[in-house]
Amino acid sequence: MNDLQKYHPSQVLRYCPFCGAADFEWDGFNAHVCKHCGHKLYVNSAAAVVALIQNEAGELLLVRRKFDPAKGTLDLPGGFVNIGEAAEDAVRREVKEELNLEVTETTFWRSFPNQYLYGGIVYFTTDLVFVCKVSNFDELEVSDDVSGSNFLPINSIKPEQIGLASIKNVIICLQKSASIC
Ligand SMILES: [Zn+2]
Repeated sequence: MNDLQKYHPSQVLRYCPFCGAADFEWDGFNAHVCKHCGHKLYVNSAAAVVALIQNEAGELLLVRRKFDPAKGTLDLPGGFVNIGEAAEDAVRREVKEELNLEVTETTFWRSFPNQYLYGGIVYFTTDLVFVCKVSNFDELEVSDDVSGSNFLPINSIKPEQIGLASIKNVIICLQKSASIC
């Protein structure tokens, strides 16, 4: 059993959060059902955003992850969408937090499903990838959960340097495409 199976919600969540009963059974698909009070608790996919930012030479801006999961590997800027937040606002906020850059335009490209082990439980995410326009890179400064950044030609990026599976898929997909959009 790998970690994604071992820490799947069906293995980790044992008690009904409403009545506390241990008769909390996984339905084999996407929910737990409490046999005691009847409550059904769904496991949903959380929305996350990913930014594709290119410089004038068409190189892609990559960041280095400061924390686990996949600490030290290459990544794309982004993060989770907050509750009550639009995805377009989330991608602007994450780029500002991680790189101190102002995104002036966002265009949705495509999405990728992902699984993410954090704090002893697997989270399911839908990574929404946006092409982000940044006109001024003078203020670029890494902070938050990023330890470095670099512009790289898309075809020079080695997928094995990318830590997160869905971001690896984004890069592979980009390398197969003639252009981003
Ligand atoms: Zn219950």
